[in-house]
Amino acid sequence: MAQIPLDILKNTNRPTLGDSINTVLFRIIRFADLEKYLGDGANAVLYASGKKFGESLDLKSVDDVIEFCKDNKIGIVEIVNENPLQVRVYECITCSGLPKMGKTLCHFEGGFIAGCLENIFGKKVQVKETHCAGLGHEYCQFDVKILG
Ligand SMILES: [Zn+2]
Repeated sequence: MAQIPLDILKNTNRPTLGDSINTVLFRIIRFADLEKYLGDGANAVLYASGKKFGESLDLKSVDDVIEFCKDNKIGIVEIVNENPLQVRVYECITCSGLPKMGKTLCHFEGGFIAGCLENIFGKKVQVKETHCAGLGHEYCQFDVKILG
């Protein structure tokens, strides 16, 4: 099946219920048995999907990304270091409150940050999660590598 374009997905036609959903429902879908079917490739699919979404928004500044993430309840984003660039996310939609599992969980968010920043910087970037509830941290943190 062809992928459904984002502008089609955005048409929710929910005049009474609106666009918001419960975080738990989001997580049930997010943590569906992707790994069972895709193995390690699942993380790459989530990253690519987040990246595409980030690119599609065409946000113009890091402040726009911070605002978008807050408005859409993805998380509270903070720049903790500029060079090298490190982005921290509190109250992450995917992992906040989850127990330590010995691995990072927020591949979608990493891709999302990458997609947004590639547009803003006009350069390829690689984003890697270094801190996560899945690793026992209180927040997520991502290293951003600007590839030029
Ligand atoms: Zn995380």
